[in-house]
Amino acid sequence: MENVRESHRQQRKGCTLLLFPLPLQGHINPMLWLANILYSKGFSIIIIHTKFNSPNPSKYPHFTFHSIPDGLLEGEASTADVVDLVTLLNVKCIRSFRDSLVKLLLEVKEEPIACLITDADWYFTQAVADSLKLPRLVLRTSNISFFLVFGALPLLLEKGYIPIKDSQLEEPVVELPPLKVKDLPEIKTRNVEDFYHLVAGLVNESKASSGLIWNSFEDLERDALSKLYQDFPIPIFTIGPFYKYFSGTSSSSLTEDQSCISWLDKKAPNSVIYVSFGSIAEINEAEFLEIAWGLANSNQPFLWVVRPRLVRGSEWIEPLPDGFQERLGGIGHIVKWAPQKEVQAHPAIGGFWTHNGWNSTLESICEGVPMICHPISGDQKVNARYVTDIWRIGLHLEKKLERGEIERAVKRLIVEADGQEMRKRIMSLKEKVEICLKQGGSSYDSLERLTDYILLLQPLRSH
Ligand code: UDP
Repeated sequence: MENVRESHRQQRKGCTLLLFPLPLQGHINPMLWLANILYSKGFSIIIIHTKFNSPNPSKYPHFTFHSIPDGLLEGEASTADVVDLVTLLNVKCIRSFRDSLVKLLLEVKEEPIACLITDADWYFTQAVADSLKLPRLVLRTSNISFFLVFGALPLLLEKGYIPIKDSQLEEPVVELPPLKVKDLPEIKTRNVEDFYHLVAGLVNESKASSGLIWNSFEDLERDALSKLYQDFPIPIFTIGPFYKYFSGTSSSSLTEDQSCISWLDKKAPNSVIYVSFGSIAEINEAEFLEIAWGLANSNQPFLWVVRPRLVRGSEWIEPLPDGFQERLGGIGHIVKWAPQKEVQAHPAIGGFWTHNGWNSTLESICEGVPMICHPISGDQKVNARYVTDIWRIGLHLEKKLERGEIERAVKRLIVEADGQEMRKRIMSLKEKVEICLKQGGSSYDSLERLTDYILLLQPLRSH
């Protein structure tokens, strides 16, 4: 068996894969992790990327980077309207992406290109790949359960769940348990039709692809996976969590403040609440102040990531009252960006207050850290519902942010018996993560199937 594996590995040497991440932090990270996983399996990697939010090539000397113009104007690149941005990118990149693909297919002669792997959000790439007879695999960076919600969008519209009505927020979506109407994705965007169009493109072009890759694992999403097999009759590979394949690799394009670690070193085990709302979410000034006072009043140590411009209308933490940080007496540490992987793995961390982006949620599961869920948009509300109602590894801040509620939630998670139960359950999921990645585990086997499958695509390409 080992000999067969070695011969496959040799065969993979000299076989190139083209990867095209969507230029948003929560999408770049998983694609670069996937690139590292496939590189470790012997493939050569070319990363095609936009000029906007380009990854830092110096962190990946083993990959070739190929930049394409994205045509974004200054205002377009800095918009907070993600649907607008992704829609624009899917239009503006068609030409430059096609040109670069044609060039690469001509240039990369000694190392045949087996396939293209793009983020599912790059839905225009399926037509380009088809026209060049290049198989396209899709990486979907959300979880499977949320993708099924996107897949059900026509039904949700037909049954009147969407557009969401205030009078129905607490009602169950009977076709998609355990979701409530308020969990459905309703993205604030200039033109809601653009959102529907984006979702349809993403779902249909994923279905038309040569296979779907997931940063998730079987034991976590068994029911959703069975449904996916029914609705998407294409090869499916659940090889996650990507984040666990390598120790110490960070794909963050932002500067990580390492002072977090020495600060955490001085705190007791399981005592600190880590607070971060990811790379895109925004809050208003009133919410920011409720969070600050809620954390301070909880009297539990907290490590808080306040990204520049997290607070709408502010550069950083200016809305805090004068002397706020000094008065904390060392229980609070505020940074602009944290080395999240190291932070989550630190023994002092007892809980994670998160917006439930999929990467953050999965990273928390990998490290066995129970959560306070404060979803803001996109897939986050669905992720939070699964965290609290299905996996029961976190508690939900469902109402308006209010300092008293926050204080109670922090204490409940870090100190009370309730939180201990959640910690036990998430520790058992953490063990499942470790098992699925070992030889004979579900993600391990799925990755073997994926690498064999890519080798089958290569001969198709050379004819
Ligand atoms: N992250 C980080 N440092 C921080 C905050 C976030 O490295 O201070 C990383 C985090 O580990 C995750 C990603 O940024 O991998 C955020 O992705 P997620 O899907 O959670 O949220 P998004 O940013 O897409 O809303």
